[in-house]
Amino acid sequence: MCELRTAVDRHGEYILATNPQYTEMDRVYLTNRILGMVGDAAADVPGKDDALANLDALIDAAVVNGVIDDAQSARAILGSRLMDLATPTPSGVNSTFNDKYQDSPQAATDWFYSLSRANNYIQTRAIAQNVAFRTPTEFGDLEITINLSKPEKDPRDIAAAARQQQSGYPACQLCLENEGYAGRADFPARSNHRIVRFELGGQTWGLQYSPYAYFSEHAIFLDAVHEPMHINARTFTNLLDIVTWLPHYFAGSNADLPIVGGSMLAHEHYQGGRHTMPMRWPKLSG
Ligand SMILES: [Zn+2]
Repeated sequence: MCELRTAVDRHGEYILATNPQYTEMDRVYLTNRILGMVGDAAADVPGKDDALANLDALIDAAVVNGVIDDAQSARAILGSRLMDLATPTPSGVNSTFNDKYQDSPQAATDWFYSLSRANNYIQTRAIAQNVAFRTPTEFGDLEITINLSKPEKDPRDIAAAARQQQSGYPACQLCLENEGYAGRADFPARSNHRIVRFELGGQTWGLQYSPYAYFSEHAIFLDAVHEPMHINARTFTNLLDIVTWLPHYFAGSNADLPIVGGSMLAHEHYQGGRHTMPMRWPKLSG
C-alpha cells in the first residue's frame, strides 16, 4: 500500500506504465494534464492501488470541486479522457497490433484486448454483473446470458439530452468517427476508444471490442462507411475472410431484419470473439 501517494501521482504512474508514447520526462506534463481535467484542488486526494478505483477517486474529486456535474455522462466523459492518456494514439495502436500480428494473430488480439480492458473502454466492472446459465441438453450445452452491464440512463442526462441540439455526429455508435469522440449526455464517451483497421473485400473495416461484452473477447467488425446492414453472398466471403485473418476467433452476423436481427441495423457490422458457441451440426443418419 502506498498511502502517501496522491491519486494524481498514481494515475501518472499508470499512464507511464501503460502508454509507451510517454516516458519519465513526461511526468510533470502528465501531472498537469490530469490536474487540468480534475481541477487543482484535487491535487491532494489520496491515491488507490487499483487503477480503476483510483480513476473513481479522481472523478469524485472533480465533482466535489465543481469541475464537472454529478451526472453519469459527465463522469463517463471525464473518465474516458483520463484513460485516453493511458492509451496510445490510433496510429500507435494500429502499428503495434500489426507488429504483433507478425508473431501471431493471437499475440495481436491478446495485446489489443488487454489494452481495451486496461484503459476501461471494456467495462470490466459492469460486465462482472452479467449472469450466465449453462445446462446440458441432448443437442449440446444450452447457454443463456443476461446482460446486466449496460447502465440505466441517468434522468439528468435524459433531461440534458432533450435540451441539446441533435448534431447527427457521429452518425451512429458503430461509426469509425467514434474513435476519440468526447461524448455527450445522449452519446457514449469514446476518448479512450481505439479501432484496428483491416482490409475486407477491398474495403477498409475496423476491429473493436464490445464495451458490454457477453462472451469472451466479444469483438465487433465494422465497415468504415456508415451504411445499412445487408446479408448477401458477400457477407459469407467477408466472414470467412475474417476467420482466415483471425483463425482463433469466430465471426458471425445478425440478420439484417428488425426485431429478430441486430439492434444496430443502420451500420454494416459483424460480431465475433474467442468463444465456442453452443451449437453443433445435427447427427447424420445412416
Ligand atoms: Zn455508423
